Amino acid sequence: MTVKAYGAHASDQPLVSMDITRREPGAHDVQIDIAFCGICHSDLHTVRAEWAGTLFPCVPGHEIVGRVAAIGDHVTSHKVGDLVGVGCMVDSCQHCADCEEGLENYCDNMVGTYNAPTADEPGWTMGGYAQQIVVHERYVLRIRHPEQDLAAVAPLLCAGITTYSPLRHWKVGPGSKVGVVGIGGLGHMGIKLAHAMGAHVVAFTTSESKRADAKALGADEVVVSRNADEMAAHTKSFDFILNTVAAPHDLDAFLVLLKRDGTMTLVGAPATSHPSPNVFNLIMKRRAIAGSMIGGIPETQEMLDFCAEHGIVADIELIRADEINAAYERMLKGDIKYRFVIDNATMAA
Ligand SMILES: [Zn+2]
Ligand SMILES: [Zn+2]
Repeated sequence: MTVKAYGAHASDQPLVSMDITRREPGAHDVQIDIAFCGICHSDLHTVRAEWAGTLFPCVPGHEIVGRVAAIGDHVTSHKVGDLVGVGCMVDSCQHCADCEEGLENYCDNMVGTYNAPTADEPGWTMGGYAQQIVVHERYVLRIRHPEQDLAAVAPLLCAGITTYSPLRHWKVGPGSKVGVVGIGGLGHMGIKLAHAMGAHVVAFTTSESKRADAKALGADEVVVSRNADEMAAHTKSFDFILNTVAAPHDLDAFLVLLKRDGTMTLVGAPATSHPSPNVFNLIMKRRAIAGSMIGGIPETQEMLDFCAEHGIVADIELIRADEINAAYERMLKGDIKYRFVIDNATMAA
C-alpha cells in the first residue's frame, strides 16, 4: 500500500512530502495508523548523513504512537483499535541469546525502525514520519495512558526507554543518590523517571537558566557544572550517574563525584569520542564507566506501564509535518523543551 510520509532525498535536502510503500500485513503483522511521532536527535543525524550509511530517500522517526488499523491472521497480542507504540526496532533474529532474554536491542541482527536493511521496498526500513507503518507484533507495545496524553507518550519509545533501562539495570531506587547530566530530550526523562523510582536526583546543567526547569521536572538539587564549588560539594557522593550529553566532554569532572563502586553510564552518542578519563579516577574507588543502548521489548513495555501508572509523559511541543525542517534548526540551537512531536494527521495535507 502507498502512504504519505515526510523524508529527505539527499543529506543536503530538506524533508519533503513523499509517497512510500508499506508491505501488506503478514500473518504476524500489525498495521498501525500513526497518530504522532517524536523527533529524536538520531533522526537529524541520520537524515543529514552525519553518521555513516544513510540510505536515501530517508524517512526517519522511531517514537511512534497510534492505533491498530488491521492485524494478520496469527496476531494474538494486539487487536484492531488498540493504542500502541513502536520504538527504535521493528525486527531482530528472535533466537539468539540476546533475543531469548528479551534484549533484542543488543541482537546483532536488530532491524532499526528506519535506515536498516530489510526485504521490504525499497530495501531499507522507513520510520514514523508517515501515515501508517506495518510491524511484526513482537515489536509493537501496548499503551495504557489515557488517549489525551498520546502525543506526549511518543517520546517514551526512545528517550523514555533509553533512560529507564540503565536506571533499572543499575538498580536505582529509594536511598540512591542519582545524577543526571544534561537536561534535554533524554535528560528530562531521566530526571522524571529517577524521581518516580524514589531516588534523590541531582541534575547537572551548563546553563543557569535551566535551574528552575530541572526542579520542576523532579530534581531535588541542581548543579551548574561550570561552577567548581558546586561540583566539589558533591565529591564521592553518587551511587549512579546517567550521562545523557552527546557532545565530547570531560568525564573526569563527573567520575570524581561517584562514591566507591559507583557507575557512570553514557547514553549520548557523540560523533567523536570523549577525551580519555584519568584511569586513577576509576581505580582508586573501583568506579566504572558503562554504556547502554535503548532497551529490550519486555522492558520497553514495563517502562510504558510504569509511566502510565505514575502519570509520566514527555514535555513536548506539537508541530505539523511541514514544520519538521524548522524544528531541526531549533533543535540544533537547543531551543526546545524538551521534545518535538509531529501530528501525523497533517501528513495528508
Ligand atoms: Zn531516538
Ligand atoms: Zn537476536
